[in-house]
Amino acid sequence: MTDAAKITPSLTQERPTGQAMLRGARGRCPACGEGRLFTSYLKVADACPACHEDLHHQRADDGPAYLTILIVSHLGAPLLLASFIAWRPSAMTMILSFGIGAIVLSLAMLPVIKGAMVGLQWARRMHGFGRA
Ligand SMILES: [Zn+2]
Repeated sequence: MTDAAKITPSLTQERPTGQAMLRGARGRCPACGEGRLFTSYLKVADACPACHEDLHHQRADDGPAYLTILIVSHLGAPLLLASFIAWRPSAMTMILSFGIGAIVLSLAMLPVIKGAMVGLQWARRMHGFGRA
């Protein structure tokens, strides 16, 4: 064990990336999996209420929005084409159904993707997550 590990074991402990991302995707603290990650819809808590792990180091920025757009558009475009070929709905039906569907899916996916991204940053000790 190095001197740094003796002094600050939490800084050298292994942080499983998949587990941290799953915990974050569930809206839980990537460190303990108990405390709530968000204080509101997309506002990340400064620290975990359960284990007091600092979470303010996260820098998800626009990443979750870009990933959400990528996933929703890649799901929506083929579905749009397939439903048009299969049923030939009116233009208004297509606009309303796919517009509402894209909005609902995006709003549902944003916190999941942001939580997973915060979990990834925590596990990889990015942006100050690895500092004392
Ligand atoms: Zn925690």
